[in-house]
Formats: sequence, C-alpha cells, structure tokens
Amino acid sequence: MKYRILAIAGILSLCWVLVVGSLKSSWAMQKMADFRADLGIPSTLLAQTQWYTPPGIPVVGCQTRPKWNPPQPNIETTFQKGSLTISRFRQTALSSAVNALPERSANNRVGDRNYTPREEITLANPTNFGERYYQDVNGQPVNNDPIIVIHETVIPAWQTVRFFQTYNPRDSDQASYHTLIKQDGTIFYLVPPDKRAFGAGNSVFNGESVKTNRLYASSVNNFAYHIAFETPPDGRNNGNVHSGYTDLQYESLAWLISKTGVPDSRISYHKAVDRSGSRKDPRSFNTQKFQQLLSLYPKSQEIVIGCPAPFAQPSAQPSLNPSF
Ligand SMILES: [Zn+2]
Repeated sequence: MKYRILAIAGILSLCWVLVVGSLKSSWAMQKMADFRADLGIPSTLLAQTQWYTPPGIPVVGCQTRPKWNPPQPNIETTFQKGSLTISRFRQTALSSAVNALPERSANNRVGDRNYTPREEITLANPTNFGERYYQDVNGQPVNNDPIIVIHETVIPAWQTVRFFQTYNPRDSDQASYHTLIKQDGTIFYLVPPDKRAFGAGNSVFNGESVKTNRLYASSVNNFAYHIAFETPPDGRNNGNVHSGYTDLQYESLAWLISKTGVPDSRISYHKAVDRSGSRKDPRSFNTQKFQQLLSLYPKSQEIVIGCPAPFAQPSAQPSLNPSF
C-alpha cells in the first residue's frame, strides 16, 4: 500500500513537471510573440532582418497603390541578387550624350564646367525607404512631375548615414534622403531615384501632396528627390544660421541636379514644403550662388526620378517617365 502511494505520488509529480514545463515553454513562446507584435514585426521577418544587409539590386519600378494598413516595417522594397553600381542611381551610360546638347547662352555655354564629384554608394536600410505609387492610399491616381527638395543634415554626414542604415521597424522612426553631399563635395547615394525616400513628413509643393500612409499626413515624398547638404560644424545645433556650405558642396549640388532633368521651377527646400512649422533647413543657403552654378551645367536625364520600365536599358535618347 505504502509503495503504491509512493508510486502514484511519483507519477503525479512527474506529470506535474511535464505539464508545468510545457505550459512554461508555451508561455515563453507567447511572450516572445507578444514582444514581436509590440514591435510590429512578423516573427519570420524578425529572424531574417535583425542583422539585415541588402543582398543586391532593388527592383526597379513603382507599385500601384499603398496598402490601407501599411506593414511595419516597410518591406515592400524587394531586392535581387547582384552587385549595386553607381548606374543604379545615375545612368552613367547617358553621360556621353550630354555634350551633344546645344549651347544654353552665349555667356554660359553648356558643358563648360569641368567638374566631377566623387560618388559613393551608401545604401539606406530598406526599412527607411519605400515604393513610389501610381495611386494614393484612397486609390486616386497621382501623376505629379518630380520635384527636388534640398535639406541639410544638422548632424555630421557619417552619423546621418549610420542612422539611415539602421533597421527602423516603426514608421515614425523611418527617414532617408536620396543623396547626401559631404562638406568635401562627395556624393553619397542612399536611395535609388525610383524609390520613395522619407525626407519630408507633413508637406506640400504648390498645392501638390500625396497621401501614401493613412496614419500620417500627406507629403511630397511620392514625387520628390531629396538631397541633403552636410551641415558645417558650427551649425550642429538649433540656431537659425551658420557659416554656410562649401564651394564643393554647391558645385556637387548643381552637377547632381542638372542630371535630374527637373526644371528650375520645381526645385524647392525642406523649409518651403514643410507644413509642420518645425523645419528651417537648409539654413544659410546661398540661392543665388546655387542658381548661378546650376546654369553652367547642361541638363540631362541620367537620374530618372519616377518609374522607368523594369530593367530598361539606357539608350542614347533617354526617356523620362515621371507619371507616378
Ligand atoms: Zn530636411
């Protein structure tokens, strides 16, 4: 009898261990799932992207319409295996066609400017940029022509790049420019021009603004190409002015913008398109100097802002399709 009680007690305690053990492990798994849900990260994605490095070339092209409930993080930007080259950001094959363009005026002959900046690829983490869309979040067609929006970083260039290359699962943390121009004139390519960089929040350009996320205000991001100047050391604060930008920065900016084919009337500034009232960049920007330099460069369409046909080969006659 005594042994039978002991045996039953033993079996019961073994069962207890097994039951509690399995409960505990399922509790732990549930907690992990909750944690992922808090971050808005699907479990499969968390496993893949915690140390995510872009494997190759982003697919070229626009999406039809943003999702009504946007995924967090934004992972619609897909990648294809292969190596990323400058031509993913600027169709370098078109450079030779530029010099064949006619002279602009007697004083400022196109092609006179003998300047070539250093270019580097510093691709942003794909959570920090997305697709451009042919329709807004409500399904209304959008076909704005491209605009340029000029910014300044306030923080040093390396810190900006590091931030953009960080995996940012929450929509509210996501940010990027297409390009960044360092104080020495080097151009960093962060986001391909057919993709939507998250450069301006609540914003509008001459009444044009597109809503691509139902949780956030409409913005110019769907049709904007964002370029930022690295701020000089004396401007890394909240002041209203600083010592300004280097000659090499202005030169690189003019060189870059001339290759977008965007007319001067559609070049703007973050402080001009901002509707939040909190943006004043780029501070201490010399518009006259910039416009004078810009007039010296021939306009081309090496940088296609919008939605080119998938994997279109650059031709001698570049075709710009800004209908996104
Ligand atoms: Zn800005």
